[in-house]
Amino acid sequence: MIRVKLTTTHKLIGALGCIAAFTLAPAIAQQNETELGELRAMKLKERSGPVPVIYSPSAEERALKYRDSLQAAHAWFEQQLGTRVPLTLAVLDKETWTARKKPAPWAMPGSRPAEHLVIFPSRIEDYLHQEASVALPGEYVTFHEAGHVFAMRGLNIRSGNRWVNEMIANMFMAAYIQRKRPDLTENMQRRAHQTKMRYTSLADLDYIYGDVGLQNYLWFQEELTRVAEFLVADQKLADVAAKLQQAFPASKQKQETLARIIEHLETIRPGIRRILGELDGPATLPAIQPTSCTAASGSHAEFLPSGTRRGKLSK
Ligand SMILES: [Zn+2]
Repeated sequence: MIRVKLTTTHKLIGALGCIAAFTLAPAIAQQNETELGELRAMKLKERSGPVPVIYSPSAEERALKYRDSLQAAHAWFEQQLGTRVPLTLAVLDKETWTARKKPAPWAMPGSRPAEHLVIFPSRIEDYLHQEASVALPGEYVTFHEAGHVFAMRGLNIRSGNRWVNEMIANMFMAAYIQRKRPDLTENMQRRAHQTKMRYTSLADLDYIYGDVGLQNYLWFQEELTRVAEFLVADQKLADVAAKLQQAFPASKQKQETLARIIEHLETIRPGIRRILGELDGPATLPAIQPTSCTAASGSHAEFLPSGTRRGKLSK
């Protein structure tokens, strides 16, 4: 794939993108150290079921609630898509989270599509601080993470543009919430950011990704949820998935221009341009010389931009 050439200020992109493919390669070569294997070696509690869950003993109550919720979503995804996609949920407390060899920052949920694994914190309100009063904080995020696994492993859908993969995960989340969990709509749609963001164009997000800053990135995630809701509305998820497979086949994963991506999205549901609004605006950053690079493909995590203090997160 083609990635922008990384500079010092762009190193955060590399944390989950281009550079990771090189710096992590020796570790990956050692293999047999999977995330799930590491968790099992920590002697956590486990429950079997359609979606097995492995969890820190202190997180049992929430782990089982998240498992029950995700299990229902997982069953719906499989039924709608007519495909089996094994999925395991890990729910970890802070102590377990940070005891791992390569943990993401505390409470930042993520998935490992190669392992069919979703890794979730026991207290996502440490990441989504507005969630504290919700019955099961961040419940909808588990559907997003499962969406990454279904897209990449179940359907072979993957774009070379990271934000597109986030939007696709949001499409799974939005489809499920529209059909089966409308009670979570408001929570999923939350518009926490009233102030004008520095970056509002997807072209800028494409250039610097995590370096847009955390609040700005969260704004993009909310906007991509809004776009995702439009794209999946009034369509069967299987039909949407078939169109995504045509538009973003993993076998031909490539980074594309915003204009080209919009053409793809028009095939999924016409009218997307008027939905995009300022997301379709011109880039405000100077073009960076493209360079060839292979992206890391084994994991996905919601990134944490550089220079961002945790504890200020809102989604
Ligand atoms: Zn994601």
